[in-house]
Amino acid sequence: MKRNILFIVIDCLRQDILEKNIDNLPNFKRLRDKSLVFANAFATCSTTTPSFASILTGQYSMNHGVRTHHGHRINPESKTLQEVLSENGYNTYAEVTGPLYVNVGINKGFKRYTHRSRVDTIFTKKGQEIINAIGRLDNLSFFFLHLWTLHIPRWILKKYNNQEFGDSPYERALKSLDDKLGEVLDAAAKEDIIILTADHGEGFRIHEGFMNVNKIKFGSDFERKILLLKSKLITLRGRILHKLGFRQTRRIIGHGYHVFDKLIHVPLYMHIPGMNPKEINVLCSHVDIMPTILDLLKIQERCNFDGKSLLGAVAGKEIHDAVYCEAVGCGFAKNVLVGVRTKKYKYCCQLNNDYEKLYDLDADPQEETNIAQKYPELAKQLKNKMLELSRERADDFSKGEKISVKEEKAIKKQLEALGYFD
Ligand SMILES: [Zn+2]
Repeated sequence: MKRNILFIVIDCLRQDILEKNIDNLPNFKRLRDKSLVFANAFATCSTTTPSFASILTGQYSMNHGVRTHHGHRINPESKTLQEVLSENGYNTYAEVTGPLYVNVGINKGFKRYTHRSRVDTIFTKKGQEIINAIGRLDNLSFFFLHLWTLHIPRWILKKYNNQEFGDSPYERALKSLDDKLGEVLDAAAKEDIIILTADHGEGFRIHEGFMNVNKIKFGSDFERKILLLKSKLITLRGRILHKLGFRQTRRIIGHGYHVFDKLIHVPLYMHIPGMNPKEINVLCSHVDIMPTILDLLKIQERCNFDGKSLLGAVAGKEIHDAVYCEAVGCGFAKNVLVGVRTKKYKYCCQLNNDYEKLYDLDADPQEETNIAQKYPELAKQLKNKMLELSRERADDFSKGEKISVKEEKAIKKQLEALGYFD
């Protein structure tokens, strides 16, 4: 069953907030209503670049090698989804933004990989071009679309910038994005496979900076410059606060700093024409997406997956007893937080010190009460499971290709311009 595939990844889209608001998001809802909905899907990492690498390789970070936004590029031995699809007759296109620079190798295997400026969002002229391109896709095409308007500074249409559409800029930005998602879905053909997920979740506040995008009509160069300036000013404000010591702010807003569910629980919709829509509660991970797509297309490929096909889970049979997750910060973090999530528990620790947390997610869904000291045996058991899944070794931090010092400098500059910090 070879068909065109439209794969949408929405940066920072929280599963719980999407579910809470789903009745007011008609376009997310219409995709949800015709999809396999995996309600217990988790990102492998709460930072963008390694998370994308897991989505596109079916591997955890230490295997594909991308541990953060820099340092290592994808392991040459890790085959990407787009490489396998190319070998099987697909034209592969990616439209990405944010920190997904070519230096880290996310582009490996794409016939065309466009990294657009953060202001060339789906709301602009560039966005319209992307929607038009989706409408013109030839057989066979794989179109990978990364949307960034929920990311700080969040983009809100003026008509949705009031309390009726949510208390926070985040919820209003989600409502704004729903309109554009509708146009993307309308552009896709009826027989296309459509997959939607997020790279990670998000922490947010009611009072935070955002972009009011009511005036964008034509996407002129002048408008573009103004938008870029405004976006940079909002980012600069965050950087100054950070330098002044308001680091706590960064811990409330954003992602990358932990493996709490709000940061790793992601939506995962798979619209597969011919398959009945269904909500599936099995525990699953981003590493399962690539095996599922290959299974669906009946492509036999020897890949060293950490994930499994979800088609075997459609009937509700569990395929994992636990999934691995990690947090590496958004910039140049030193201490990696590694963890494991089962249906009932979350365990995480740092391997170079005594930081250790265990949460009972049934009794404590907000992950506020650490029970690691109360149940040391359980903590040990879950730690062993985490080590088994991750194959974590101090001397084998990454199997990726080391990025050169010169390229590292360039990445650091780009990341700083986006507002990432040490
Ligand atoms: Zn991201």
